[in-house]
Amino acid sequence: MVTSPTSRPHAWPTPGDTLPDVDAVVIGAGFAGLFMAHRLRELGLSVQGFESAPAVGGTWFWNRYPGARTDSVHSIYRLHFDAEFARDWAYSERYPKQEEVLAYLDALADRFELRELFEFSTEVSGATYDDATRLWTVHTATGGRTTATFVVTAVGLLSAPHTPPFPGAEEFAGTVLHTSRWPEQPVDFHGKRVAVVGTGSSGIQVVPLIAEQAEHLTVFQRTPNYVVPIQNRVLDTAEIEDVRDRIASIRDHVRQHPFAMPFVDPARNTLDVTPDERQRIFEEGWAQGGFHFLFETFSDLQLDARANEEACDFIRGKIRSIVRDAATAELLCPQGYAYGSKRPPAGTNYYETFNRSNVALVDVASEPIESFTATGLRNATQSWDVDIVVLATGFDAATGSLTRMDVRGADGVSLADKWAEGPLTNKGFSTADFPNFLMVTGPLAPFANIPTCIEENVEWLTGLLRHMRETDLREVQADAEAEKAWAAHVDEVAHITVAAAGEKVNTWFAGANIDGKAHAINVYFGGSNNYFDACDATAAADYEGFVIA
Ligand code: NAP
Repeated sequence: MVTSPTSRPHAWPTPGDTLPDVDAVVIGAGFAGLFMAHRLRELGLSVQGFESAPAVGGTWFWNRYPGARTDSVHSIYRLHFDAEFARDWAYSERYPKQEEVLAYLDALADRFELRELFEFSTEVSGATYDDATRLWTVHTATGGRTTATFVVTAVGLLSAPHTPPFPGAEEFAGTVLHTSRWPEQPVDFHGKRVAVVGTGSSGIQVVPLIAEQAEHLTVFQRTPNYVVPIQNRVLDTAEIEDVRDRIASIRDHVRQHPFAMPFVDPARNTLDVTPDERQRIFEEGWAQGGFHFLFETFSDLQLDARANEEACDFIRGKIRSIVRDAATAELLCPQGYAYGSKRPPAGTNYYETFNRSNVALVDVASEPIESFTATGLRNATQSWDVDIVVLATGFDAATGSLTRMDVRGADGVSLADKWAEGPLTNKGFSTADFPNFLMVTGPLAPFANIPTCIEENVEWLTGLLRHMRETDLREVQADAEAEKAWAAHVDEVAHITVAAAGEKVNTWFAGANIDGKAHAINVYFGGSNNYFDACDATAAADYEGFVIA
């Protein structure tokens, strides 16, 4: 529960004269919120965390659909701030599944006694800055109010579910599920007719497992994806021991990689090798699986359109060789957009699933789903009777979990209004006119292995607060010019890579997956390594680009 002002164990210097209920409110209890709360408490701040779920986990609490697992390899899906905890934690599979990541976060919360800092099942509905007291009031959906000097959001890049507004949902007699709000109890698909809408990372993970149970599965595809096999497997003891031995060097290596992955740049370009050699290297990348294909085959797949097209051709060849029905294979083949311009998924038995007699693929690109009916879904010319509709329709990424709260900064300015044309932040940490409103991996922070980005962000914010205390400064926010410059840089870099081109195929990288959302690049593609260096340089230059008062 909220600590009362009089019983606050530590009083952080406040920007005004009024004492808040707590020094800091942290929103979210996933990787970011847990670690941020830990560091704030160590700094001596009184902390009140809020988490909408009944338990810790964030993304990994909610995304418990069958097949949910991370595409980041086991060795890097962890925090390193405590060397012993990082070394001792062992996942059992090469790509940890949801249950194990959740178990990791549970263990983290236990080990560092973090649960006591959070109020669970409590959704934050808004936060308002008071110009007179210079404090924030955080509002919860249940009517709670907590005043704080700092609000730190740890709400996740991909956490606000996107549900397409198909009319008629209330008429549908069956069950509607969203992959990112999956029930805690397992769903039994045996004997059921099921529809899955969406073929992004979530859709391609859930489809093969539902197909194994359902009487019939219809997959509704709008944009086909380039799906590389993840090549998951159970780890043997030697592999687990090897990670233990090398855990510190793995962390250092990942810190230097542009996507915070444990890969080595292959230092060769696609068109510099013979067609046979190219084929051999792509085959090797395919056999390695997952992001190896993107990062360890050739250096220029994300930079050179002709190189990228070679990778696209290779993947289309694989689809045609796996899927027996030629028409279905063609429908599954992505055309006309670059590999990596939408976030590339990695799956298990995804294309093979379309060889099953109980699975059908429906193209809803040309004839969109129009509505629910009492018995299922329909478009302009057809209808489908189903018992369960699974929406694997993604997220209002980067900004959604922030703008869906009513956040009001100085002079009552609304965050949603300020970002109506796209997010503005300095390096994802802060936005002008929202003093002491700090974000862990906020919009315009890099898209890379997320625990690494979170860890670096939390350490940077901790350093900022320490600096503020040492220099007796009380209030920080992004400089308005600096955040414009950062947003322009983020946009420029995305146009050098293939990322910006995904706008025409609805990439969430550019807000293009949500009708009515501003099309603006919302994550940084200039390399997490370069970003971390830029953050360090900012700190070394007395937090240049931030106004600290
Ligand atoms: P997503 O990549 O945004 O995919 C959403 C899917 O729903 C797309 O296929 C989209 O089609 C479709 N869709 C949306 N509205 C539709 C409509 N009205 N009619 C028909 N289809 C519609 O979302 P996601 O799969 O949940 O993944 C989001 C991100 O979360 C990923 O990119 C990844 O970063 C992360 N994630 C990671 C993992 C992992 O690490 N393994 C797993 C799951 C998610 P269009 O493509 O045509 O828009």
